[in-house]
Amino acid sequence: MSGVRSDEMLLQELAGDLAAWLRRQSELGLTTLARREAPRAVARPPAPAERQAPLPSVAPRHAAPASTSELPSAASNEAVGRRMEEFAQSVSQTLSSNRPRDAAPQRATTQAALRAQLGDCQRCPLCDDRTNLVFGEGAERPRIMFVGDMPTADEDRSGLPFAGAEGELLGKMLQAMKLTPEQVYLTSVVKCRSTPARRPHPEEVRRCRPVLAAQIRIAQPEVIVVLGGAALAALKPDETLTAEDRGKWMELHGVPMMPTFHPTLLLQKPELKKAAWQDLQQVMKRLALS
Ligand code: SF4
Repeated sequence: MSGVRSDEMLLQELAGDLAAWLRRQSELGLTTLARREAPRAVARPPAPAERQAPLPSVAPRHAAPASTSELPSAASNEAVGRRMEEFAQSVSQTLSSNRPRDAAPQRATTQAALRAQLGDCQRCPLCDDRTNLVFGEGAERPRIMFVGDMPTADEDRSGLPFAGAEGELLGKMLQAMKLTPEQVYLTSVVKCRSTPARRPHPEEVRRCRPVLAAQIRIAQPEVIVVLGGAALAALKPDETLTAEDRGKWMELHGVPMMPTFHPTLLLQKPELKKAAWQDLQQVMKRLALS
């Protein structure tokens, strides 16, 4: 909305400046406008394709008038100035009539609307590294929201959360929990990947955090499962995190949260799967899934 307002003001300022300038030209007795000498064309041999295909005879859009007699006189300068002011006023009135009075930015009520609001997000430097912004995917009203830390290379390529080998393992975990796709939402703390891979920086988390908060507000999950120490550290930066934090109930935006291992770590260390399963069983018990 502020963008529309500043566009109006800029347009009015430009029209006012142009009108004043034209009036000044008229007062100085200038009846013609100086025309800049067109740059001399440098002869070059035609490219082979040009020799074969003749150019279409379309007039250039910004062609200069053929002679000075076509340039505006002082009287027409004033007329142009008046018309510019009228035009700016009419644009301003049209924009005002199309805009609800004192409208506040709309609060997204669906994940799709939130994603649209995010657009080509440039709020943090991670936008420079990403291939795709990995927003999240799943049910509009899931029972569980799974939150990782940062998209992996597979997710960055596909634009889908938990793609690749980690996603396959997570899919098996969801099956074991007797969850259907309609009961789950998958996302991450930050939505863009850094190259090379690393933990998200605190400033990146701070910039992206409102997106996750809005996703949670819209989804209203019964439980959040946070996957991995990097995601937990990003979500709970004010707490001293230890290995014992895993498997203990916490809270995020008023929603019960269970931290457990990230599927990537479980692929590297299968011996941790048993402990992860115990964490997920606590979730199942809370949701009466077992
Ligand atoms: S990580 Fe979040 S804040 Fe940063 S560019 Fe991506 S969507 Fe925007």
